Amino acid sequence: MAIAVALRKLGVGAGHEVLLPAYHCGAMVEPVVALGAAPIFYRIKQTTEVDLVDVAARLSPSTKAMIVTHYFGFPQPISLIRSFSSANNIGLLEDCAHMFFGRVAGHPPGTHGDFAIASAMKFFPVYDGGYLLSTKHSVRDVPIRSAGVLFDFKALTSSLEHAARHRRLWPLNYPLLLALKAKDWLWALSKQARPSITIRPLGPSSSDGGYSFDSRWIDVGMSRTSRGILRFADSARIVRKRRENYELALQYLRDVPGLTPLFSTLPADVVPHVFPILLDTPNESLPALKSAGIPLLHFAEYLWPGVDERACPISIDYSRRLVQLPCHQDLSRKDLEWILTTTIEIVGQSHSKNAERHSGGNS
Ligand SMILES: *Cc1c(COP(=O)(O)O)cnc(C)c1O
Repeated sequence: MAIAVALRKLGVGAGHEVLLPAYHCGAMVEPVVALGAAPIFYRIKQTTEVDLVDVAARLSPSTKAMIVTHYFGFPQPISLIRSFSSANNIGLLEDCAHMFFGRVAGHPPGTHGDFAIASAMKFFPVYDGGYLLSTKHSVRDVPIRSAGVLFDFKALTSSLEHAARHRRLWPLNYPLLLALKAKDWLWALSKQARPSITIRPLGPSSSDGGYSFDSRWIDVGMSRTSRGILRFADSARIVRKRRENYELALQYLRDVPGLTPLFSTLPADVVPHVFPILLDTPNESLPALKSAGIPLLHFAEYLWPGVDERACPISIDYSRRLVQLPCHQDLSRKDLEWILTTTIEIVGQSHSKNAERHSGGNS
């Protein structure tokens, strides 16, 4: 929603082109298309930095804006990108969905772009909400209305459910889980009684794992529940724990057969969203990691139709074998160590199996 509002404020509409990285998720492309503009995909480098030579080659008189993403919390060379977009008279939208904290070229995230967007759900235990900010334009004129008490209630029950499932509400975990079970029961019963019943979802699809653009939510603000939770969030702790967890993962995964950390150091001003790793043999190791219960993310698993090797070979490669381990602030040391040792074991097995097969094939 914030991407759409920002692009609209940059004057993007039907017939225009918006430059986007070939390494992306659907949530970045859908708003462009919803505004009637054409997404034009540019290349990224091995470091995930924007390939400005390629961007320059894709400029046209219809280009209105470019979107850059600070992948996984690691900053893009923003000063260069800012100069480029100013020199070519196109709007710059910084996608800080993976970067809530830290600094970019000495400044807080999102201060170089004409606009920046960020995601509440990726750093805080909230059901909904996004951010639109600008140091260059006013965002006060963006209309925002409340979705109403039903939405606040949905955000509340969803947050309580997550907290109880993860046993974070002692001594209320079990009473709450029981109450939620009763609710699901009643729901199933009423569905049985009236199978034709359909109700409009109470929240946006993005809050339930989707990314489709739903214009009904474009002017809706964050729920009161989520704003309340944010007020209590301990940002200093989130920053410290995410960095600690990342450093621990680096220690474990630095020299492991079958995988390579995408970034081999953690710069002082980076607060990571996740720990990205490149798998040597994803066809073998990825299904095994998933079935072992490793809570992996797989950013850019599905690329927009038409994005292929010719558009950007690195994006295609990363779409297949770059996955992300968690470094979440509320992972216990024990759970994180289990994730890391299990990953090493599984990836090592796939790696040696694959090596055997190859040497067998050669002899
Ligand atoms: C998740 C994500 C978004 C969208 O954020 P939501 O809070 O899920 O709407 C945008 N850009 C990138 C790079 C993302 O990973």
